Amino acid sequence: MDTKEAKKAVATKEKEVPQVDRVLVNQIKENVEMKLQTLYARTLKTASDGQIYKAMSMALRDRVMEKWAYSKEQENETNGRQLYYLSMEFLMGRLFGNNLMNLGLEAPVMQACQELGIDLEKVRNSEPDAGLGNGGLGRLAACFLDSLATLGMEGHGNGIRYEYGLFKQKIVNGFQVEVPDPWLEDGNVWEVAKPEEPEIICFGGKVERKIKNGKEYVMLEDAQCVKAIPYDVPVLGYDSEVVNTLRLWGARALKPMDMGLFGQGRYVDSLAEKELAEVISKVLYPEDNHPEGKALRLKQQYFFVSASIQSIHRKFKDAGNNIFDFHKKVVVHVNDTHPALAIPELMRILMDKEGLDWEDAWSITRQTFAYTNHTILEEALERWPEEMLRNLLPRIYEIVYEINENFCKDLWKLHPGGWDHIARMAIISYGEVHMARLCIAGSFSVNGVAKLHTDILKREVFKDFYQVEPQKFKAITNGVTHRRFLLKANPKLAHLITEHIGDGWIKHPGELTHFKEQADNKDVQERLAAIRHENKAKLADHIFHKYAITVDPDSIFDVHVKRLHEYKRQLLNVMHIMFLYNKVLDNPDFPMHPRTFIFGAKAAPGYHNAKMIIKLIHALAKKVNNDPRVKDKIKVVFMENYRVSLAERIIPASDVSEQISTAGKEASGTGNMKFMLNGALTIGTLDGANVEMKEAVGTDNIYIFGLTAEEVSNYYQLGHYRPYELYQRQPELRQVLDQLVNGFLEEEHPDMFQGLYNGLLYGHYGMADPYFLLKDFEPYCQAQTRLGLEYKKPEIWWKKAILNISHAGEFSSDRTIRDYNEQVWHLPIYSK
Ligand SMILES: *Cc1c(COP(=O)(O)O)cnc(C)c1O
Repeated sequence: MDTKEAKKAVATKEKEVPQVDRVLVNQIKENVEMKLQTLYARTLKTASDGQIYKAMSMALRDRVMEKWAYSKEQENETNGRQLYYLSMEFLMGRLFGNNLMNLGLEAPVMQACQELGIDLEKVRNSEPDAGLGNGGLGRLAACFLDSLATLGMEGHGNGIRYEYGLFKQKIVNGFQVEVPDPWLEDGNVWEVAKPEEPEIICFGGKVERKIKNGKEYVMLEDAQCVKAIPYDVPVLGYDSEVVNTLRLWGARALKPMDMGLFGQGRYVDSLAEKELAEVISKVLYPEDNHPEGKALRLKQQYFFVSASIQSIHRKFKDAGNNIFDFHKKVVVHVNDTHPALAIPELMRILMDKEGLDWEDAWSITRQTFAYTNHTILEEALERWPEEMLRNLLPRIYEIVYEINENFCKDLWKLHPGGWDHIARMAIISYGEVHMARLCIAGSFSVNGVAKLHTDILKREVFKDFYQVEPQKFKAITNGVTHRRFLLKANPKLAHLITEHIGDGWIKHPGELTHFKEQADNKDVQERLAAIRHENKAKLADHIFHKYAITVDPDSIFDVHVKRLHEYKRQLLNVMHIMFLYNKVLDNPDFPMHPRTFIFGAKAAPGYHNAKMIIKLIHALAKKVNNDPRVKDKIKVVFMENYRVSLAERIIPASDVSEQISTAGKEASGTGNMKFMLNGALTIGTLDGANVEMKEAVGTDNIYIFGLTAEEVSNYYQLGHYRPYELYQRQPELRQVLDQLVNGFLEEEHPDMFQGLYNGLLYGHYGMADPYFLLKDFEPYCQAQTRLGLEYKKPEIWWKKAILNISHAGEFSSDRTIRDYNEQVWHLPIYSK
């Protein structure tokens, strides 16, 4: 069968009308029309897409709420062990389609829409992304919620209800411009506000102690307090009765306004307190892997962990439990160090509210918390000035101080006289509070997010801690929800898989291995190729309409989407494109399969080099896309505003997945897994979970190149890396680098990329080319050449694609959550 026939085969499948429940379809139709009337006084003829989205969501919501109510009743009756996943970020994306899928209502709703003349695709696109995260860390939290509910575990999220999510990215003249994201402006169908269940959070003030009846009472005086209002979002699982809760906290003033000032006519002043309170949950900090040391950020952290721990404690008490059973009924997971203050906050509640002594409180606390480390990048390890903590949170500071005193005393017993050793491990050291050290000291479990990452934690970053308590350290590799990123994002591929192995893989992704048996099946290979082609054609259409760039669906779609970061090496990708471009200019008949290079990436607003790389991609795109000499062999597209909904659009249309971080820098990566699930082939370094992807799928089915983490580490330690020598020795590399600064790309401003160039050859401060782009350039180009040759052999390429899909089950967050549960959480499982 040739590609055209295969395409036809796919198209026919689409036309088969699935058998749907007539009664249900009619019910849905009625519900939607009724909602339009009651909400907006509109009919289908007069409603906007946005109104139809709201009406459909409200109709769906009614069903969600019913399930949620039963699930909560069950939870209360059982009084079983609960997980609370504390995370400063939840990158949820859109919820409508996901909820539809999880309730098994996709088919009847599609049918209802067809009959009502509603364009479901348009409706879905009217929903704003819930962009309450920066990248991988926040998306991981969202994937975990999906798997927890699906697997029947009671695990709830706790975070911040940012009024503004991650900024929207606009590109103006090739430069990134940040635009606010007021995602709540039109309301949020999926949240339930509970203003009647606030928690009170206090900042500043003075710690006072009073003795009453021989007991000491600790309290804060003259503190500034705010209210934390819970906004609960139901979290459904696929085909599951368990509905969990994502509780997002919004900040409010205790009093809506100061009536005294208002009475004096000082209207603006009367609202000052309200403004000051509400700023806490106003906006997400846009730095990925690089926390800002601002007092407001520390306030955000304490605000949401204090609210969370207080409400967890309240619920625990309301169920009639004994405080000494706290750690038996509750496990609190700390997603990176951002929620670290939950540890002293629980100590505060156990001592100051429950009246426990230090030893009992500390024992319960240490058995309650588990911590995941997400990065070894030095600049990403959180430290707060001791003074800031003391002023902003005096009682919490006292507790951290005492935790540190005890901790250091214990260390002294192990290393008497080892001042340096103890300073390296102390929670408070040289005027700074080290949050990772607080997390390790206060948790019963510490884990890295891939095997390699955990090895580096044990060997380098947390070596001293590992030596003291090796049993605490675990490796639990990240995962992604294959339901959102395959079943929902690539329905045709999902259907093809189900045709061959049944639909068990949807709840048991390990079953994807059965698809391996189809690796050599010509028909399956061609069907897969046709589905990919169809997805690419759709993306090509989108690109044309949005950017007026024509891209050929028969070209290789080579995709690099993730946050813009120097360690992720988008610049290395650019250098390879320039290398290819030079090859074609040298020789118009240079043999290569046409390629479309697709980028998507937001840069932190203050990250200069990252922003210059975005500009560089645009300068290159402008030059290459308009050069008749390349005859459409190379196209470069930057898709603006990369986010979850865009990932769902791009990944099913990708042939090549770029995972080329400097080895040792990417803790796990999860983008890599989303591509693998959809059958894209990875070109990547031995970094993060790539290592395990290689082990799963086999060396022949992934394009691995470049330095290993160990080699990188040796270069750093020995300081013998000389990028300039590579520049001198390799003419093709030299040409590419020179083109950054000789006006080749920016005739008007030849010095535009001088900074990037200098960084690679001379270094800013510190070493030159700290991410080893020059060192990995040649092996990267060679791996790309191999890949390009294999793309031309469909029977080889699509076999590899099938093998990738077959081994992707291991990288489902279902597997990750089962691992966490067996090794860390020990939650009961409530399956249907
Ligand atoms: C998965 C995902 C990420 C993480 O990608 P990496 O390649 O692991 O860095 C970032 N942003 C979005 C929107 C994602 O969906």
